[in-house]
Amino acid sequence: MLALTHLVVGAALGSAGEDRRRGALAGVVSHALLDGIGHDDVTIGFRGQAALVAVGVAALALTWGPGSAVTAGGLAGILPDSEIALMKLRRRSTGFLLFPSHWQREGRRGTHPYRFPGPDVPVGVEVALSLAACAALCVAGHRRRRRSSRLNP
Ligand SMILES: [Zn+2]
Repeated sequence: MLALTHLVVGAALGSAGEDRRRGALAGVVSHALLDGIGHDDVTIGFRGQAALVAVGVAALALTWGPGSAVTAGGLAGILPDSEIALMKLRRRSTGFLLFPSHWQREGRRGTHPYRFPGPDVPVGVEVALSLAACAALCVAGHRRRRRSSRLNP
């Protein structure tokens, strides 16, 4: 899935509690599961993905706090894709990848090693849903911070 989707799902899982480590673990596990859904993360391009995820990380860190379980869950959700980002920055299209959902089958570049049944998620739908979910999380984080600053001035 898109890095933005991994970020938002990891952040949403992190919002279930205050424990950063638990949020981070949930983010990494969700990455492996989400990559099993049919998706298109090629069309939007590396720079497009980087721009979207940078905006998402900044928005979550500003509304929930950089050290929150939400931000930790989101960052852990995108962490596995750092090996792909490093490969792209080195201008390589293949390479040794550690994360299981990134293991590509020989001769089938672009396909994932496992795939859940069901149709592919169109990239436009994925971007729209992820942005909407990120905005909803940011609104929730903003409200929570306002409420806690009113209680503890
Ligand atoms: Zn991935």
